[in-house]
Amino acid sequence: MGPLIFTRHDKAWVTELVPQNATQITEYRVPVMACPQCHHAVRGDHPAVSLDQVGATAH
Ligand SMILES: [Zn+2]
Repeated sequence: MGPLIFTRHDKAWVTELVPQNATQITEYRVPVMACPQCHHAVRGDHPAVSLDQVGATAH
């Protein structure tokens, strides 16, 4: 599989519990790439966004 093709940036949100029952939501911009073989969308990794949160992986 060759290098992914950059498509666009997308937003991802990470919700974290913080003290005093408050909820902190952090927004990230993650790159959305396209597979060079079948052109399906593959969302890039972000160090703060877990893979199961992102829900898309390469082959
Ligand atoms: Zn593919």
